[in-house]
Amino acid sequence: MEIVTKEIMIASKNKNKIKEIKNIISGDVVLKSFLDYPDIPDVLEDGGTIEENSIKKAVEVAKFTGLYSIADDTGLFVQVLGGEPGVYSARWAGEGCTYADNNRKLLNALKNVEFKDRKAVFKCAITIASPDGDTHTEVGEIEGYIAENLRGENGFGYDPVFYVPALDKTLAEMDFETKNKISHRRKALELIKPYLERVIYYGRI
Ligand code: IMP
Repeated sequence: MEIVTKEIMIASKNKNKIKEIKNIISGDVVLKSFLDYPDIPDVLEDGGTIEENSIKKAVEVAKFTGLYSIADDTGLFVQVLGGEPGVYSARWAGEGCTYADNNRKLLNALKNVEFKDRKAVFKCAITIASPDGDTHTEVGEIEGYIAENLRGENGFGYDPVFYVPALDKTLAEMDFETKNKISHRRKALELIKPYLERVIYYGRI
């Protein structure tokens, strides 16, 4: 089938995210990213939800580049904390905090909480936007529990504290391929794939 949209922008400079998206696209499409647009203005992620943030980022980047653009935003939602850190996951322990600071804050907040009450869900919102502002958003999820200690060395962010019962491992104890088969981001990408293909082959969302 003929490709109508030959270039798609990924609103990220994270090489792993770019690789994950490349993996789900079948056609011969050129993927651009922030690495190709060093002067692109930062998008302020000030939305009240991860969905709002992903829409804002995709729309602003699509307008700036003139390309169909994909953006994502992720949050960890811990049930007993009323859904925190949620949309604030990146900077939960304060401006300039590290992944280790966030994990320490989380383990402390759950210090006296029994394992069965440590339910959490990772959610990833992905939006595809056209240069004139049409959008479609999907959300992928993975359920688990917050572990009682840090476990594993792989991955990033909250991976060492996010325990997945089906595999009896935290995300940080899994290898790259295993995590990326079951992750929130992978699920969101699978859901957005048909819309991405419509853009590629029909030139509309
Ligand atoms: P972002 O929207 O992808 O930048 O994610 C926001 C924050 O969520 C990051 O700073 C990480 O702390 C966390 N996060 C996102 N994706 C993952 C993941 O796959 N594993 C663990 N933490 C993640």
